[in-house]
Amino acid sequence: MNPFIELGIRHDIVNALTELGFEKPTPIQEQSVPVLLAGSNDFVGLAQTGTGKTAAFGLPLLELLDFSEKHPQAVILCPTRELCLQISNDLKKYAKNLNNVNVVAVYGGASISDQLRQIRRGVQIVVATPGRMLDILGRNAIDFSHIKYVVLDEADEMLNMGFQEDINNILSTTPESKKTWLFSATMPREVRRIAKQYMTDPVELTMGTENTGNANINHEYYVVRASDKFATFKRIIDFTPGIFGIVFCRTKIETQDIAEALIKDGYNANALHGDLSQQQRDKVMKQYRDKSIQLLIATDVASRGIDVKDVTHVINYSLPDELESYTHRSGRTARAGKSGVSISIINVKELGKIRQIERTLGKKFVKAEVPSGFDVVEKQLFGMINKLHNVTVNEEQIAPYMPRIMQEFGELSKEELIKKFASVEFNRFLEYYKNSKDLNVDTNNINVNERNGRPDRSRRDETEAGFTRLFINVGSVDEFNRGDLLGFICNSTQISGKSIGKIDLKGVFSFFEVENDLVEKVYAGFKTVEFNGREVRIENAGARQRESGGRSGGSSNGSRNRSSSSHHSRPRTGGGNGSGGNGGYRGGSGSNDSSSRRPREKQDSGFRDFSGRSKSESKKRW
Ligand code: AMP
Repeated sequence: MNPFIELGIRHDIVNALTELGFEKPTPIQEQSVPVLLAGSNDFVGLAQTGTGKTAAFGLPLLELLDFSEKHPQAVILCPTRELCLQISNDLKKYAKNLNNVNVVAVYGGASISDQLRQIRRGVQIVVATPGRMLDILGRNAIDFSHIKYVVLDEADEMLNMGFQEDINNILSTTPESKKTWLFSATMPREVRRIAKQYMTDPVELTMGTENTGNANINHEYYVVRASDKFATFKRIIDFTPGIFGIVFCRTKIETQDIAEALIKDGYNANALHGDLSQQQRDKVMKQYRDKSIQLLIATDVASRGIDVKDVTHVINYSLPDELESYTHRSGRTARAGKSGVSISIINVKELGKIRQIERTLGKKFVKAEVPSGFDVVEKQLFGMINKLHNVTVNEEQIAPYMPRIMQEFGELSKEELIKKFASVEFNRFLEYYKNSKDLNVDTNNINVNERNGRPDRSRRDETEAGFTRLFINVGSVDEFNRGDLLGFICNSTQISGKSIGKIDLKGVFSFFEVENDLVEKVYAGFKTVEFNGREVRIENAGARQRESGGRSGGSSNGSRNRSSSSHHSRPRTGGGNGSGGNGGYRGGSGSNDSSSRRPREKQDSGFRDFSGRSKSESKKRW
């Protein structure tokens, strides 16, 4: 017997399900359908998106409502227009063989008069976003006095989006006797509160453990410098030729920027965010659904509720601020029993966040290595060869061109021909990746503090991996706080705050960390900066500490003098033949290893020669 029949679903509906390819119930359907079919309980279902929730509540509704009546009997509230349309379309498909079933989708950003017209014609199931539903109720255009069931779908998302009050108001228009079914992917305190406030002894079902993500998702993370994020992202995509992914950014601007940069580099990508008009958003979604774009770059809000089949990867280009959002993001892949990968590109400072998410999901994330340029080129080459192998030759269409093709290639041996074909793509990637560097940051020596989830640097002299600790001769006596000092550093060096690590503010001096690659830029930036008529000095704090017997921060009793700093070495750049000229680091320690014993006058004059101007003329004053 068809397992849906065993669950208590009638033949007409099961036939429609079979046509949709639903052979057996998903676990959530198996567990919740019998409970909901009883129709006598409030219900809380904790389940990820993509697990078959819509049918889990939709099938019982189709069994329980009286479709010979024409008034609303069930209202389904959900967070977005997308989801609203999806749910109403799904219900219509399940009800394909039933008579007189009327479902209306009610959502903002579309003509209200059309929706009102449909309501007037008579509906039993209203699927709505809270704002528009209230609007319609406010016009007295719908009668909720016969509502038997209220479904709150993606309740956590609705609360996140600030719909709490709207939901309260809508619920207050429905009869006391109605039953409330709440579905949520996560169970934050606010959702618990709603369940408590509006439900009586609800039956609770948890698919997996609370807040657990979909078991078919593999979670991976890459640790790189903030400045290497985009390069890493591209390498991952290039290493995954068949990717069909959603890339999450934190802001609309970031979303737009990444999409534009990808398009410029020849990728099939487009952006989805709230600054687009509804029409533009629909167009992008259509492109994505049709697979005419391979990468959808989206914000959390714009992509809520999206159900696109076969998403292979979710990429967290930026980790979300809210932990729950991670679950929602990753739930866009591995839908309907398929598997998928959720990737996060992070810097060392975000390791703690990964540990936190791991703990919440109860799942270990795999630290992945950014592939080398060579790996990517190889992967692309064999990807292309595989494609060549599997291509279907359209004999009829290509036949007229064959004589000319044979003529063009007739001279070439089989081996030459293969080499040339393979090189078409290979050369492009080879060119791009020929001088590529290793983007991985070594995290072996980083312990994440168990209590706060952040890299544990309780030992004062421990600098974050990938960062260099620098000394600067300004501090709190100069009326700097940490934010001021960060601004001062960023303005003077044109380095983004994201590349600056921990700032340790002292009295007359301070320490700050900067990504290793940018140390030279710091020296260069400060060579033209004065503060209150004082020359601003930068030194490598690591060297300073080693010299002063490992005491963090050097000495505060005045031993931080020129003679003690004159042996400090600056981190070497590239080939290591630097004359000290591109540093601008003075005070006697501004040379690389090989020139550290050069007389100071020589270094200074070298610096002046390089910069081509006298320091006194070129200083920026603060
Ligand atoms: P949902 O969680 O309701 O958004 O469903 C996620 C996806 O799974 C949708 O594309 C559904 O069409 C599909 N789906 C739901 N139930 C089943 C089932 N029993 N068998 C196969 N696919 C299903």
